[in-house]
Amino acid sequence: MLQLRFVPFYLLHASLMIDSAPSPRIEPFGTHNDRNEALDALRTEFDGLETEYPLADGSTARRTYLDSAASTLRCTVADDIVRRALRHYANTHSQLHDGARIMTHLYHQAHEIVGDFVDASDDYTVVFGGSGVTAGLNRMARVLAERRPDRDVVITTLMEHHANDLPHRKHVGNVVHVPLEKDPDGDAGRVDVAALQHAIGEYADRLNYVAVTAASNVTGVINPVHEIAKMAHEVGALCVVDAAQSAAHLPLSVQGHDPSEALDVLCMSGHKIYAPGSPGVTVARKALFDGLEPQEVGGGIVDRVETDRYEITDALPEREEAGTPNLPGALRLGATLQLLGRIGMDVIEADERELTQYALQRISEVDGLTLYGSHRLEVADRIGVITFNLEALPHGLVAAALNDYFGIAVRNECFCAQPFVRDLLGRTGGDGAPAEECGPETQPGMVRVSFGLYNTTDDVDAVVDALEDLVERPDWYRKQYRPAMDGSGDWLHRSFEHPPEASFSLTEAVDEWLQGVEATTD
Ligand code: PMP
Repeated sequence: MLQLRFVPFYLLHASLMIDSAPSPRIEPFGTHNDRNEALDALRTEFDGLETEYPLADGSTARRTYLDSAASTLRCTVADDIVRRALRHYANTHSQLHDGARIMTHLYHQAHEIVGDFVDASDDYTVVFGGSGVTAGLNRMARVLAERRPDRDVVITTLMEHHANDLPHRKHVGNVVHVPLEKDPDGDAGRVDVAALQHAIGEYADRLNYVAVTAASNVTGVINPVHEIAKMAHEVGALCVVDAAQSAAHLPLSVQGHDPSEALDVLCMSGHKIYAPGSPGVTVARKALFDGLEPQEVGGGIVDRVETDRYEITDALPEREEAGTPNLPGALRLGATLQLLGRIGMDVIEADERELTQYALQRISEVDGLTLYGSHRLEVADRIGVITFNLEALPHGLVAAALNDYFGIAVRNECFCAQPFVRDLLGRTGGDGAPAEECGPETQPGMVRVSFGLYNTTDDVDAVVDALEDLVERPDWYRKQYRPAMDGSGDWLHRSFEHPPEASFSLTEAVDEWLQGVEATTD
């Protein structure tokens, strides 16, 4: 296996030198006004905004979707474009017939759009794989561990999702978790940059890379990823960025303003940026893959195969994408990101900032509500992700009641960020909480409200009104529920049930179609 001595990648790529602020590679269309109008028109173009569910009081309500940090809804504009493209569907590994050539062209175009969306130069490759950030971070942890086995330390932060922590523990070895800053209100903000600098100095010789989230899925707080990349590069380490949460909310640039602060790897999930069903994305410097065997082997990545040997293509991303790709998903992602880029992520960011400001203000006024993380935008910038607990009721009961009585979809528990959530709750220490601390009343966790571009102030008002009702009548709500008692912290309604199979069944949907055929042929 070929091993390279480390040379800072930004020194290898003088062409990355740019002296002005990065401007978007997908050129926004029309005037600022045109783009705001397009954003307004886009707000209603999502599957699932009109879905209605029965409520526990016997009525039916259109759902209010406030769980976009988990997965956004799917953009119907892109869906229509993909449906039209799929008239040409064929496998990209076929080569000469029209459909195969058209799909191959579209698949390349999807990669190009994603690269442009994150401002990647030709020094980067865009690799599709898996269904989200988890696949990309595992892949890159393996690649970077193999590339530099003598560097067995990864520095990350306390605010990471498990996906940006466990792969580094498993594949690289030692993970150091840097604490967060306290803002002037005493709340958790972004990573403590001084502590990070100190840790980088301490592990300089062994540090493989710094892995950091661009925005927290718990507090929404944004990290200074380019400043962090610069600090990592100064000691010959790399910077890997988890953009799962930021991609749908902020303009992204892997290159930044200056080569020294360019990111080495950036991963994102299409299902969190209005393209559920699309592949996970890894944008990485091509040089990182040089001389390494691809992580997965099979069809589509080889130049020549004999029974006793094979030669892998040098072409990227092909060599990292063995097998038939998820073409419809890739096209959906390409169409969606092109649409967002043409409207302009700056317009989307500004719009969401206003909504977030409004929501923080209104939610913080609910009696007995604790907000987690820095919640003044002028103190710490954040995306539209807001977590809280009510003094009056446990998070599992709040989430269930918001769904059952108000048709409001939120997430609760620890959001795959257990160390951070426990820290915010002051529940750290020891080898685990005693059993009585993990009952349905005391299970560590929070309630999370998160926005997509389809959310409005009406949605914020709806959740605030609902929370106020819960706070006014906690005993009444508590009587309607019983704890699941299965260690999950879930609460179940005592009399109301809305079984998922009552809403949709694949087998029934198939039968409906067959009955339609029967009716037309009778
Ligand atoms: N990182 C962050 C910050 C996330 O919020 C998530 C998803 N909740 C992930 C990583 C993992 O993404 P995926 O499930 O799409 O692999």
